[in-house]
Amino acid sequence: MKTREELDVIAKGLRKDSYTMKERMAIPLQEMPVQKPEVRIHNMSEVALGFTENQAIVEANRCLSCKNHPCIDGCPVRIDIPGFVGKVAVGDIKEAYSIISDSSLLPAICGRVCPQENQCQKFCTVGKARKDVEQSVGIGRLERYVADTMRAEGYDPLPSIAPPTGKKVAVVGSGPASISAAADLRKAGHDVYMFEALHKGGGVLVYGIPEFRLPKKIVASELGKLEKMGVHIVTNFLVGRTMTLETMMKEEGFDAVFVGSGAGLPKLLGVPGENLVGVFSANEYLTRSNLMHSYDTENALTPHIVSRKVAVFGGGNVAMDAARTALRLGALEVTIVYRRSEEELPARREEIGHAKEEGVKFLLLHAPVSVEGDENGHVKGVILQTCELGEPDASGRRSPVPIPGSEKFHEFDTVIPAIGNGSNPLIKMTTPAIETNRRGNFIVNEDTLETSIQGVFAGGDIVLGAATVILAMGQGRKAAKAMNDYLAR
Ligand code: FAD
Ligand code: SF4
Ligand code: SF4
Repeated sequence: MKTREELDVIAKGLRKDSYTMKERMAIPLQEMPVQKPEVRIHNMSEVALGFTENQAIVEANRCLSCKNHPCIDGCPVRIDIPGFVGKVAVGDIKEAYSIISDSSLLPAICGRVCPQENQCQKFCTVGKARKDVEQSVGIGRLERYVADTMRAEGYDPLPSIAPPTGKKVAVVGSGPASISAAADLRKAGHDVYMFEALHKGGGVLVYGIPEFRLPKKIVASELGKLEKMGVHIVTNFLVGRTMTLETMMKEEGFDAVFVGSGAGLPKLLGVPGENLVGVFSANEYLTRSNLMHSYDTENALTPHIVSRKVAVFGGGNVAMDAARTALRLGALEVTIVYRRSEEELPARREEIGHAKEEGVKFLLLHAPVSVEGDENGHVKGVILQTCELGEPDASGRRSPVPIPGSEKFHEFDTVIPAIGNGSNPLIKMTTPAIETNRRGNFIVNEDTLETSIQGVFAGGDIVLGAATVILAMGQGRKAAKAMNDYLAR
C-alpha cells in the first residue's frame, strides 16, 4: 500500500499539459490514498485521505469528454460530469465547483458516500472499454477533491435569496432530503424552519455514517451554510410529540410542510434472546459512537460496551459501518454474519474491501436461530444455522435456504443486528390523514411529492424506504420545486 506522498510522485510523473486520445486511454486509474489499516483501526479519523492536486488533474484527464455523456444519466441529480471533470483537468477548480453546484448542494458528502459504481461510474465509457467498472473515471473522488479544495480555501459562496414571499414553511428532519429542500425553499424567499428530533442536525449523515467515512465537520458546515442563508434550525423538536403536523399548519401558520423524517426504525432479527444485554441495533450502536462520541471515554455522555467478540448480522453498508466501528471501539474480533454468499453482499465493494483489510471476519451462508444468554442475562453466543442458496427472491438475489440439523453454537458477547431500517410510525400515528403503504412509507404524487394532505410534501427515505443520500437529496429538491409552485398559487 503506497503512501499519499508516493502516489503523488507517481501522478506527477504522469502529468502533462495535453494528452493524445491514445495517451488518455493509457493513463492508469489514480489510487485513493488511505490510512494504513493497522493505524486506522485505532482512530476515528477518515480512512480515505483524498487526491493530491497531481492525482486529481491526472485522473480528470482520463475522461474522454464523451459527446453522449452516459455518466450523467447515472447521476440522480444529473451533474454535468464531463463539464466539471474537464475543468479539473485544466486546474480550474473554482469553475468545476460552480458547475457541480448547479445540480448538487452536497458535493463533499456525495463525493464520499455515493455508491458511484452503481450510479455515474457504472455508465462511464472508460470503465466499459476496460470491461471493469472499477476502472471508470473516479468521478466521486474528483467531486470530493473539488469540494474539499474549495472548502480549504474558504470559498463557500452563499446563494442569492429571493425577496421575502411572506410564506412560512416547515421542514421536518435534517437529513440530506431536508437539507436540500430547506435550501431551495429558502432561496425562493420563504421563511424556513427546520425541525429535528435529535439534539444535532444532519440525520443519518451525523448519527449513522461513521466519522471515518464522513467527517462530521463537513455536515456541520452544510448546516452552518443553511443557517447563514436564514434557515431557522430547531433541534430537540419531535414532530408528532412536541407538536403535531396539524397544529403546525392550523395554529402555527405554516403554509406548507416538507417531511424528510427518514427510515430510522431498526428491524430486528426476530429470534429468541434478542432482549439480552449485549444486543444492540446497529442504529443504537452507531448513534452512541457517532452522535454521542462514546469513544471519547473521558468526556462522552454515553458509554459504549467493551466487547471481546462481536457478531454483526447483515451485509449492507450499515453492517460494514457497525463492524468497523466495533473494531475501533476495541473489540478483539468482529464477524459479519450473512445469510447469503459474498456475491450477494449488498454493501459497496470498497467498504467490504476496507472491512477485510481491517480484519473483519465474514461468516457467510449462516442465519441466526437464537441469541443465547448466561445466568446474568448477558449474551454468551448465538446459535447459527448453515444456509444454501435457493431460487432468486423478489430482490433478484438467490434466497438463503437454511439446512435442517446444521445448527451450531458460536461464542459472542455482543450482537448487532444490521438488517435494515423501516420508517418511524410517529408522524403517521399522529396524523392519520397521511396515507402510507404497507411498509409505512408515505404515498406521494410522483410528480410533486405531495402527500395525501394538501400542502404537505415528503421525500427521501420516508418515501423511498432506506435508500441513498443522493436519492434523498434529489427528492428534497424535487419537492421544493413543487412546493415553490404550490406557494406561488
Ligand atoms: P435521514 O438522513 O434519515 O434524516 C431524517 C432525520 O429526520 C433524522 O435526523 C431524524 O432524527 C429526523 N426525524 C425523524 N422523525 C422526526 C420527527 N418526527 N420530528 C423531527 N425530526 C424527525 N447512503 C449512501 O448514499 N451512501 C452510504 O454510504 C450510506 N451509508 C449509510 C450508513 C448507515 C449506517 C445508514 C443508516 C444509512 C446509510 N446510507 C447511505 C443511507 C442514507 O444515509 C439515507 O438514505 C439518507 O440519509 C436518507 O436521507 P433522509 O433525509 O431521507 O433521512
Ligand atoms: Fe456520481 Fe453521486 Fe456525484 Fe452524481 S452526485 S456525479 S452519482 S458521485
Ligand atoms: Fe468522461 Fe466517463 Fe463521462 Fe465519458 S462517460 S464523459 S469518460 S466520465
